[in-house]
Amino acid sequence: MKDRSMKPESLMMSYGYKPELSEGAIKCPIFLTSTFVFKSAEEGKSYFELAYGKREKLPGEEMGLIYSRINNPDLEILENRLRLWDRAEDCAVFESGMSAISTVLLEFLKPGDLLLYSSPTYGGTDHFIHHFLPKIGVQTLGFTSEMDEADLEQAILSSGKAQQLAHVHLETPANPTNALIDIAMVRRVVDRIPTEEKVSIAVDNTYMGPLWQHPLDHGADLVLYSATKYIGGHSDLIAGAVLGNAELMLRVKTLRTFLGNMASPHTGWMLLRSLETLKIRMEAMQANAVLVADFLKQHPKVEKINYLGLLEQGSRDREIFERQCSGPGAMVSFHIRGGESEAFQFLNSLQLIKLAVSLGGTESLAEHPKSMTHAGVAEEHQEQMGVTDALVRLSIGVENHEDLIYDLSQALDTVKIREVTHQ
Ligand SMILES: *Cc1c(COP(=O)(O)O)cnc(C)c1O
Repeated sequence: MKDRSMKPESLMMSYGYKPELSEGAIKCPIFLTSTFVFKSAEEGKSYFELAYGKREKLPGEEMGLIYSRINNPDLEILENRLRLWDRAEDCAVFESGMSAISTVLLEFLKPGDLLLYSSPTYGGTDHFIHHFLPKIGVQTLGFTSEMDEADLEQAILSSGKAQQLAHVHLETPANPTNALIDIAMVRRVVDRIPTEEKVSIAVDNTYMGPLWQHPLDHGADLVLYSATKYIGGHSDLIAGAVLGNAELMLRVKTLRTFLGNMASPHTGWMLLRSLETLKIRMEAMQANAVLVADFLKQHPKVEKINYLGLLEQGSRDREIFERQCSGPGAMVSFHIRGGESEAFQFLNSLQLIKLAVSLGGTESLAEHPKSMTHAGVAEEHQEQMGVTDALVRLSIGVENHEDLIYDLSQALDTVKIREVTHQ
């Protein structure tokens, strides 16, 4: 079977797994084992030579199993399947999205280096950038989606640290406003900066991936995921992933070996199960989100809606979206008429849609970014990025769309609008 010519969704049930190695079981067992028995001392020696980079792989040679911190069948099969979606050479899975992100930042930055990052970014990432990296002498420079190519280049050059630029962390679309960063534009700018070393660009693709955006095709070197979200997709596990070319991934996997923050075999197995339905889940969520956004757009109690499917024709965001994404996704946020009390009244009245943070699961979730996921962001930054008292974020799930719209509609009906709204 020529696997390479098939679409990822066709391969999620079988790719990389050999039933004959597991008593013919159609499904990959959970390999709950810490260590693996070598056939001979010579074999053990040769595996370690590869693991420690003491020799090159022979033609067709596969890395043997040694110890579950280094490699484990559930994780290897999962990594091979995840690679197919982003067409990446290699993948490493982690025990959380944050461990994937922090491991990459630690591997590609050293004291004195400059990190360029897009803002807003996920709260945990933001915390690591602002509270941990300075402790190891890493300098940071943030930029926003409003900056164009010239603004960004100017900001880097005038920072006085352009030469030390070593790594870029992007998150697009940004949580919770769906603001877009043009990955190819950042690549062009970074390539023009006279730096001491080659600059690596990592993109947190949690919101869109792995279905609707492939950052490697737009000039990124690494793709990051919270696999807790769409990849896991059932709100029942925490995991992360990094993908990229073999050279960079060897560095990521080596640091993972020594930090010991790989996913467990059980989590790996859960994710293998999730991947089988990834495409149909994400497509069903997106189809629902399009209908939900259409409903909210025309509702009198909704002041403004942020959804990639509703970007204005001819706008810069629309142009980036059409070039960079293949679908508008299933994350919607909107400003309710009024402020916190109206937003809370709405959230407290939802019946089917659950009031919780996180996203990308089969069930629809709603939350209030300003007081929940983005509570740690400084007030002036919240305002600047459009995280207001009136903003509500929705992660749309796989329920029936009429039931979702009914629930949103009845919850909006309970909201009493004060006459002081800003029009
Ligand atoms: C949830 C999330 C993370 C962190 O992932 P965990 O699995 O919770 O550690 C990182 N980035 C984005 C965009 C997220 O939504």
